[in-house]
Amino acid sequence: MLSIEYHLVTEHPSIKRIPSIGPEKLELQIQKLKSVYNPLTPDDILALSVGTKEYPKDSFFLTFDDSFAPTVDCALPILKEHGLKGCFFVYTEVIGRSFLTTLEKQRVLQYMAGPYELFLENFKRTSLSLYDSLPKDIFTCSQDRYEAIIGSYLAEWSFYTLEERYYRFLRDTFITPDQCEVIFTTMFKERFTSSEEKDLANALYISPDQLLRIKSEGHAIGGHSHSHPFSLTGLDDRNLSHELIHSKELIEQIIEDEVTFLAYPNGHVDNRVIDEAKRAGYLCGFSTINDLCTLDRAFNIPRRDAADLPKFLQV
Ligand SMILES: [Zn+2]
Repeated sequence: MLSIEYHLVTEHPSIKRIPSIGPEKLELQIQKLKSVYNPLTPDDILALSVGTKEYPKDSFFLTFDDSFAPTVDCALPILKEHGLKGCFFVYTEVIGRSFLTTLEKQRVLQYMAGPYELFLENFKRTSLSLYDSLPKDIFTCSQDRYEAIIGSYLAEWSFYTLEERYYRFLRDTFITPDQCEVIFTTMFKERFTSSEEKDLANALYISPDQLLRIKSEGHAIGGHSHSHPFSLTGLDDRNLSHELIHSKELIEQIIEDEVTFLAYPNGHVDNRVIDEAKRAGYLCGFSTINDLCTLDRAFNIPRRDAADLPKFLQV
């Protein structure tokens, strides 16, 4: 079974600079998938994941992460036309929100504010000027040393450039979430006004009405945490339970239906996260491709990023 993870689908001229695909490409990939594999519905996924039968090898399931409004607008008509039912994984902090989270500020600064090298330079300069405990030699090294420093970090994601992997290595290795917030708030203020921020938030974030539309068209809506932390596995028990329960309740209040699907932010999962997810009332969970086959099957449904599809679908 090929479970596929899409993020931003848009044709908006400036927003599409964030890693995304256009609706034509999505439709092309769906046509190709349908010609090779059989589609599964959310009900199929639930029955198969909690049961003992193997997932059919020649099947696929579509999922859409990260609460993007343009993804809903672009994907719903295409899914309807092709008679497909998928799952939209929503992190709830941004529903109907008119200012950007740190996660989105990062995305906007990386991809919408000029060349990537410029972003990387600003990031290193701002981080070092705010926190002198950061390792200066690693933050100021020349490009030809990136590979030696990061090793195989995130090398499994073939769509990241070396610069992107180096940036993520610095962020994930040396910078705490609190520092991250200060750094990106500072960088964002230097480049965007608050009214630009509001326009971006309105254009990017899913609304309660869109959630209702997704539900009325027969798709599942799944939890994807409340604030989209880098990894649920790194949270203490209280925060882990809040991320899982609060987000589930917020979606359930809007759609007046139970939320049983979960996708772990960045795919990171372990047995403690699974136990907490079960306690919160989720029935299945999506990770990314990994070899942790000792985990509960229903809570370790592997997904592939759609950016990897061209490799084996030739689209
Ligand atoms: Zn996500």
